Amino acid sequence: MQKDHPNLPTVPNVTGLIHHPYTPPAEFDAPQPGVFKASTVYFPTVADMRQREWKDKSAYTYGLHGTPTTYLLEERLCSLEGGLQCMLVPSGLAALALVALAVLKTGDEVLIPDNAYGPNKALADGELRHFGITHRFYDPMDPQDLSRQIKDRTRLVWLEAPGSVSMEFPDLPEMVRRCRERGVLCALDNTWGSGLAFKPFDLLADGADGAGSLAVDISAHALTKYPSGGGDVLMGSVITRDAALHLQIKLCHMRLGLGVAANDAETVLRSLPSIALRYAAHDQTARALAAWWQTQPQCAQLMHPAFEGAPGHAHWQALCDRVPGTGLAAGLFSVMIDARYSQDQVDAFCDGLKLFKIGYSWGGPVSLVVPYNIASMRQTWPGHLKPGTLVRFSTGLESAQDLVLDLHQAVQAHLPIA
Ligand SMILES: *Cc1c(COP(=O)(O)O)cnc(C)c1O
Repeated sequence: MQKDHPNLPTVPNVTGLIHHPYTPPAEFDAPQPGVFKASTVYFPTVADMRQREWKDKSAYTYGLHGTPTTYLLEERLCSLEGGLQCMLVPSGLAALALVALAVLKTGDEVLIPDNAYGPNKALADGELRHFGITHRFYDPMDPQDLSRQIKDRTRLVWLEAPGSVSMEFPDLPEMVRRCRERGVLCALDNTWGSGLAFKPFDLLADGADGAGSLAVDISAHALTKYPSGGGDVLMGSVITRDAALHLQIKLCHMRLGLGVAANDAETVLRSLPSIALRYAAHDQTARALAAWWQTQPQCAQLMHPAFEGAPGHAHWQALCDRVPGTGLAAGLFSVMIDARYSQDQVDAFCDGLKLFKIGYSWGGPVSLVVPYNIASMRQTWPGHLKPGTLVRFSTGLESAQDLVLDLHQAVQAHLPIA
């Protein structure tokens, strides 16, 4: 070699390292999935390369088109939510964007609930608008308003149950029926329900395997929250039960070059087996804290769908609490701090919390708090909300008693009773 090509550098053993005769362990029949990483996937022959089909996941062709690790995660997420097909994307927001870009084109309109996750509104206003795609907001608590707003060019309706921050729980089955009547696609941001509080493809609980007579078309999920559970992964999924719709989403996904990292997929796979236990624990703690807030004079209004009097409580009961007392809710709730307290006082209360950290997102082990300015987030102040300053809490996995003590000390210090 050296003699025939004297100008080529020789690096001892490097070829031997790359062409190491590696064979995966035989009969290593452990339940924990491997982490498979690749851009290139080899084809034994050109003929094989031309034959292999990635669109139906019957083969592997390129890392971006899926690996054993991502296919497995997609399949498990389908079981969780009752779907048949799934695409993974690098964040929850990317899942919302993928849905929009896959199904909307110039001249179309998308309807968004007025209490939607804020960045979904920003996506419509800041990006879709430039493609000639218009958007309007509907009142999530008024199915008639949704029907009124559906026009000939309405192509997609977003649903969220409950709405981000103000936590109103809509009549989800009725909203889906209204979309069906008009032949408009409906996509649910299912991050709150997480596949556990209700089944997005079986809203009347009359089906098997999560699929019933009334279903959303698309379920988008920020896996960043409960499926990850660690506050350490950003990922999203888009789940469907219609092969043609899935293919449309999948082709858009491929053209955009979206993919997720194998280690992140593995982290979510690692967390999924405990999701139901964690969800129930977050739920229990959130209800304990919400119940405590109800006894506090500083609390003008409690927004937690499982509580009597909260906006949309009856809809939560109908969808999530079919056997009364067994219904689940995420570990999220908001409190309207009475209007007699200034924004500064409420900010000082949040700053004064020790266990609750100030930060976005939820679903991890640490409890979080964020004060929100509702007036800046809505077209109009929602009639069902009392005046005041809204604070949203997401419960982590700390002891509920420690969290109540933390709330108590910060309330005492910063929100005095006159
Ligand atoms: C967090 C969240 C998202 C976005 O998820 P990211 O992974 O943070 O982009 C979307 N919808 C809802 C309801 C969320 O709470």
